[in-house]
Amino acid sequence: MKAITLLGSTGSIGTQTLDIVAQYPDRFRIVGLTAGRNVTLLAQQIRQFRPEIVAICNEDKLQELREAIADIDPQPILLAGETGVVEVAKYGDAQAVVTGIVGCAGLLPTIAAIEAGKEIALANKETLIAGGPVVNPLVEKHGVKLLPADSEHSAIFQCLQGVPAGGLRRIILTASGGAFRDLPVEKLASVKVADALKHPNWSMGQKITIDSATLMNKGLEVIEAHYLFGMDYDDIDIVIHPQSIIHSLIELQDTSVLAQLGWPDMRLPLLYALSWPERIPTSWERLNLVKSGDLTFREPDHQKYPCMNLAYAAGRAGGSMPAVLNAANEQAVALFLEEKIQFLDIPKVIEKVCDKHQKDNCQIPALEDILAADKWARQEVLTASKELDDRILSVR
Ligand code: NAD
Ligand code: MG
Repeated sequence: MKAITLLGSTGSIGTQTLDIVAQYPDRFRIVGLTAGRNVTLLAQQIRQFRPEIVAICNEDKLQELREAIADIDPQPILLAGETGVVEVAKYGDAQAVVTGIVGCAGLLPTIAAIEAGKEIALANKETLIAGGPVVNPLVEKHGVKLLPADSEHSAIFQCLQGVPAGGLRRIILTASGGAFRDLPVEKLASVKVADALKHPNWSMGQKITIDSATLMNKGLEVIEAHYLFGMDYDDIDIVIHPQSIIHSLIELQDTSVLAQLGWPDMRLPLLYALSWPERIPTSWERLNLVKSGDLTFREPDHQKYPCMNLAYAAGRAGGSMPAVLNAANEQAVALFLEEKIQFLDIPKVIEKVCDKHQKDNCQIPALEDILAADKWARQEVLTASKELDDRILSVR
């Protein structure tokens, strides 16, 4: 029986993780849950999974949550705010922490969990992208496992089982192409939020769905792969694979290429991150190659999607630059979702902020440097977006 704490339990990753726990009650048990603000769903989850400790990030919602679970006996410890989430992450006898929080908000709880000796099932890629220079040494120091739950990285990790050290030559990340893969580039300027939120293959949270439409998600995954598998950026490639059946591939030194295949369903990588190295039998729909049909591949279009190159450049710059790229992207996506900037403004503001950070890029950042870079980049995006506003006003 594995004891698990789940951060971000009300989101897409969170609810799918709980699906797995509900399917395997004799294998997994929930110790702690955290959520942002969805009291109704969190209360239901507490009722069903009976965690020992719970945190709700939005402090204003604590009282409502307390009332919603007043009849439950025994009561879990209830905490609130960012510090509450950190407390849950490091609490008790949980062996593994699933990081389903979105954004760099996952960084401090993940660090707390690592320092408490917990294994990490990493869905929250932003944590590693921003915090890689701090997270990786901590993982080593505390001797914990960092198991990828992102589908591409899980695929690579699965293919790597049994590959000897030095055997890996290249990582090939597959990308669905996102919501606008069949839209001509001229039409991207006028796309609306609702269009960008329609992902062709995966059902996910809003932020990652927009990242998929800009292909920043793939750029972020390149940096994630660099920190997880120690590969140079020159040896991490992207290929568009619209069917999302091959979840990624590795090329070995002798040119052999290994791939991992499956239906696009996040439960599989989540289950593997929780059960590794075991293979747990499931009753999920089995892959049928005839049914999945043709598998096709094409070159990513870097003109149409500049975010991939921005991510490669930030990754190669290293230091605090990936944290700046990530924070600028989070802020730009938030502004796009609020309809304050246009879709094509997203890469523009990110590029501007990354350029400005070049002279201050801290090569070996401490946690404080990463947090400061993150805060600075968000503010810079707000300033840059105001300039965009002025530009639009002056054109009018
Ligand atoms: P989501 O928006 O559906 O869920 C996010 C969860 O985090 C919610 O429970 C929310 O309440 C909580 N949360 C949000 N902001 C928070 C904050 N500031 N502090 C604490 N909690 C907060 O997102 P998601 O799609 O589940 O994605 C979660 C993470 O997993 C992201 O980093 C994403 O890139 C990664 N990921 C998701 C998928 C997927 O299929 N959804 C696939 C691969 C990777
Ligand atoms: Mg992915």
